[in-house]
This record gives sequence, structure tokens and C-alpha cells, in this order.
Amino acid sequence: MIEYENLGKLNKLFFSDYESAFKATLESGWYILGSQVAEFEKDFAKYCGTAHCAGLASGLDALIIALKAFEFKKGSQVILPSNTYIATILAAIQAGLEPVLVEPDINTYNIDPEKIRAAITDKTVAIVVVHLYGKSCEMDKITQICKEHSLKLVEDVAQAHGAEFKGKRTGSFGEFGAFSFYPTKNLGALGDGGSLNTNDKDLDEKVRMLRNYGSKVKYVNEVIGYNSRLDEVQAAFLSVKLKKLDQINEHKRKLARVYLDNIKEDFIKPVEHEDYFDVYHIFNVRHPKRDQLREYLLNKEIKTEIHYPIPPHEQLAMKGILDKGYYPISEEIHKTTLSLPVSYFHTVDDIHQVTEALNDF
Ligand SMILES: *Cc1c(COP(=O)(O)O)cnc(C)c1O
Repeated sequence: MIEYENLGKLNKLFFSDYESAFKATLESGWYILGSQVAEFEKDFAKYCGTAHCAGLASGLDALIIALKAFEFKKGSQVILPSNTYIATILAAIQAGLEPVLVEPDINTYNIDPEKIRAAITDKTVAIVVVHLYGKSCEMDKITQICKEHSLKLVEDVAQAHGAEFKGKRTGSFGEFGAFSFYPTKNLGALGDGGSLNTNDKDLDEKVRMLRNYGSKVKYVNEVIGYNSRLDEVQAAFLSVKLKKLDQINEHKRKLARVYLDNIKEDFIKPVEHEDYFDVYHIFNVRHPKRDQLREYLLNKEIKTEIHYPIPPHEQLAMKGILDKGYYPISEEIHKTTLSLPVSYFHTVDDIHQVTEALNDF
């Protein structure tokens, strides 16, 4: 049996470091916004190449708080990719903004910069890009569009910790890089967590206030805030994992290399380009008989996943909000994509087994 993911197996590889991190936090007697969070924030800001990082309770919260921090007029429009996990779109709605979806490039699966231009109106205030599956969006073109139209840029970096575009790390291009540390992510905690990275000191201060009841000084509340703080114990675990992140990414890239070099041309593989340093949060292939392929692999004891089976605009929750749009490229990706095993605990041998089975389909 080749599992798709096994978080127990994955985290066992860091067991003794986690134990000391837990012990130190337990004994400190300080569990919310203390030295563990401060240390992780400093190290993760440095890793991403941003001046600041604020630890938050989740990736969704990071996106909501980013959009809230700008204090946009209610009902302003925010441009988002039609091909993404639902959280990106929920954030815009929760922040009181109107989501405007833009189709992806069929080769990269990421938002198509040319189509962004066509979606800009007088009400557009921001663009949220998603670096899907661990591949950066075309950040040169997108930052140029933001500059031309004075739009704020938020990067959803939940799937791309350590990915790069032209040698620059994702999460450092926009006003905000919004990260998730959900356990399955390349930099995953042992529970929920997130962060907002920025180069803007004022925005960073705003986020720190918003995450803590709108308060800078205890019991003095300046704005309507949230309770959205990264836990000390999760920050301690994340500091352990952060030291291994490059190693994790390199391993996933090595496994991806085996797939890319050996999977037959019958399957559509991720595109490679010298501008992108991909970290393969997800390694997908596309095939017209995706569901049959998945069943066939399962019979050979190989587990796969689908990211994602239903596009956001077809979700029941989005009825009356997104269901008027027509997003054929996103639908095509959702119908044909299959995610193959590519975890840190998988071996090159595992990947050869998957590849052989795939090529015999
Ligand atoms: C995981 C994910 C999120 C949400 O992160 P949580 O920490 O689970 O709230 C947001 N956007 C994308 C693209 C994700 O993959």
C-alpha cells in the first residue's frame, strides 16, 4: 500500500525535537503570544525575505485579516482565481468584499495575468493570487498590473512555503503574504496556524492589533478585532519544522523529478520553467479518464487525492454569489486533475512504483 499522506509517519521524523520544544513551552508557563511565537515570527520573516511576520490562528484568518487591514469600502471588488481552494474566496466574502473570479492559465493552473486586466473595474481594490500546488504565479506581470491600477496585492501562500519566482520567495511580492500552517502543508504545525508576512511596518502593527482583540496595550481596544493568535506550542513545533523546510522541499522536488522524467506523455504533467522554483505541495497529473484512473490505482493499492473535486463557483455555499459566472478552464482542471503521493516520508522507490502503475493504465 502506498498512502497519499500519513501525518503520523511524517511527524515521527521530527519526534525528539518536537518533544524538547513541547517541554520547553510547557515549563515556560506562557502559552499565548510569548517568546516562542516571537522567535518563529523573526525566523519565518527572514526565511521569506520579508521585514515582518505576525503569527495567526489559521490561513483563512490570515486572508481575512489581510483584507480587513486595508479598510476598504464595503462592497469593493477583489479579484481572485476561479481555480483555488474555497478558503481564498471565503476570505473575501467574510471581509465584506465582492469576489470577482478570474480564470487560470491551463498550463500553470494559476491565475492568468492577461485575464486580470479584463476583470478590473472602478470598484476593484485588490488582487488575491494563489500559488497553487507549490508553483508561483507570474509575479512580474501581476505586480506590474497592481502598480498601474493602484491595487493592493495579497498572496495566498498556503501551498507554497519556500517557492520562488525568478529567485524571489513567494509571500514577499505583495502587501501581504498569507500563510497557512495546517498540518498537511509543506510547513505544517500539529494543529491550526497561519501568518501574515509584510514589508510594511504600519500594516504589520495593524495585523498585530487585529489578531488580539484590536488591542496594542492590554485592556485598551482601538479597533474591532479578532482572537486569532498562533499558539506558543504550535510556534515551538513550527520552529522545529522551519529548520527542515528546505530539506522537505528538496525531497519533494526529488520525488517530482522522478515523476516528471518517467511518466508517459499520455498524462498532462506540471510545466517546468526556469523562472519557477516549485515546491510541489501537490504533484498532479491530468487525464480525461481521471476517475477511472483513480479507481485503477486504488486497486493497485496506491492512494491518490483530488485537488479539488468541485470548483468554488459550483459549491452550494456560493449559490447566488458565484453561480452566474462561466469558468470552463477551472471546470476542466477540476474534472481531470489527480494528485499523486509526494510526501516527505515517501521514497524514490515508492514513486517509481506509482509511475509504473500509472504508465500501465
Ligand atoms: C489550506 C489553504 C488555505 C486555508 O488554510 P487554513 O489554515 O486551513 O485556514 C487557504 N488557501 C489555500 C490555497 C489553501 O490550500
